[in-house]
Amino acid sequence: MTLADADKRAAANVAPAKAPTKAPAKAPAKAPTKAPAKAAPAKAPANAAMNPEKRANQKTRRVMVGGVALGNGAPCAIQSMLSVPADDVDANLAQIEQLAQAGCEIVRMAIPRKNCLDAFEAVCTASSLPVVADVHFDAEIAIQAAKRGAAKLRINPGNVGGLEKTDAIIEAARQARIPIRIGVNAGSLDAAIAARTDLTLAEKLARSAADYVRYFEEKGFFDVVVSAKAHDVMTTVNTYRVLSRQIPQTPLHIGITEAGTLFQGVIKSASGLGILLEEGIGDTLRISLTDDPVEEIRACWTLLSALDLRRRYPEIISCPTCGRCQVDLISIAKQVEQNLSTLQKPLKVAVMGCVVNGPGEAADADIGVACGAGSGAIFAHGEILRKVDEDAILGALMDEIGKL
Ligand code: SF4
Repeated sequence: MTLADADKRAAANVAPAKAPTKAPAKAPAKAPTKAPAKAAPAKAPANAAMNPEKRANQKTRRVMVGGVALGNGAPCAIQSMLSVPADDVDANLAQIEQLAQAGCEIVRMAIPRKNCLDAFEAVCTASSLPVVADVHFDAEIAIQAAKRGAAKLRINPGNVGGLEKTDAIIEAARQARIPIRIGVNAGSLDAAIAARTDLTLAEKLARSAADYVRYFEEKGFFDVVVSAKAHDVMTTVNTYRVLSRQIPQTPLHIGITEAGTLFQGVIKSASGLGILLEEGIGDTLRISLTDDPVEEIRACWTLLSALDLRRRYPEIISCPTCGRCQVDLISIAKQVEQNLSTLQKPLKVAVMGCVVNGPGEAADADIGVACGAGSGAIFAHGEILRKVDEDAILGALMDEIGKL
């Protein structure tokens, strides 16, 4: 897909902003009077270099999270959330380094209590990645986090104690020149919207989030990112589709919340987020897994790579095997995957069970092996380079990859 194609697709999928059918539940009626809080920086964002080919939504406003750009055509940024105790500075910094090594670009840290603010500040000071403060219920924690190094605040305006408290958080973010993610979840909808029987859950989620965005904008605060998630895949997909029509200028953080453990969580997330990304929706993503957050980053990169949106790691093209296969291909493929797990080169590496179909079906691979009876033919772009015994396949493949 070219940039022109992306533009066409975005135009096809993002309808003109409609006037809301109902005024935001608690928002003032005044029109916004101020320009967006921050202009797009002249400097290239940190994630620009890793986007050689594809661009995400061109229609959304540019928001900076530290040095990472979201929206307005920036590559879809990958994020995760720290899972170690919030008051353990060393553990959080160690996990940030693991995530950064895996390709994470933004991390979020929960601040469950005021006495975790010192640790949060220390983490922000030493972190190699921008740190987002995740705050529920206590507006004062969000305000302090903004003052103490947060690169972004993540709040649900519905649970911080009312609009006065929300206003105070907006003011703190404005002073700190950081954005706010408005995060709405199915489990914490405003009671008035939740009671509506004329709206689907997706419409309720989108309405709630869009109303908050308009409220923030009426306060002259435009540095906003939105998420509105459910654990049900199609509810989430439909919510973001509605949001992309209702607030087309606002960058969207996409994800399936509470998606589950590794296997189910990856499938649920990939199916839902794949639909959205293919429709040009989504400026940053998190794949939420009940697992090590490093797995979330691997899943994000694999998804973006599969959609040909962003590439960073090798892609393994391996066949499912059949009666023609005469080697232990599953073991070889797993070892190749393991050996390449830290290589940051977007190569296509084929591991095929036979020479009958192998080189032909993986002709676009940069390098590969097509196995025979206890042997393998190493090939590049469909051309055979050399033949080796089965026990030498892995070494020969790695040897050739090292030359690329
Ligand atoms: S590449 Fe060969 S062994 Fe693998 S599935 Fe195809 S025909 Fe079977």
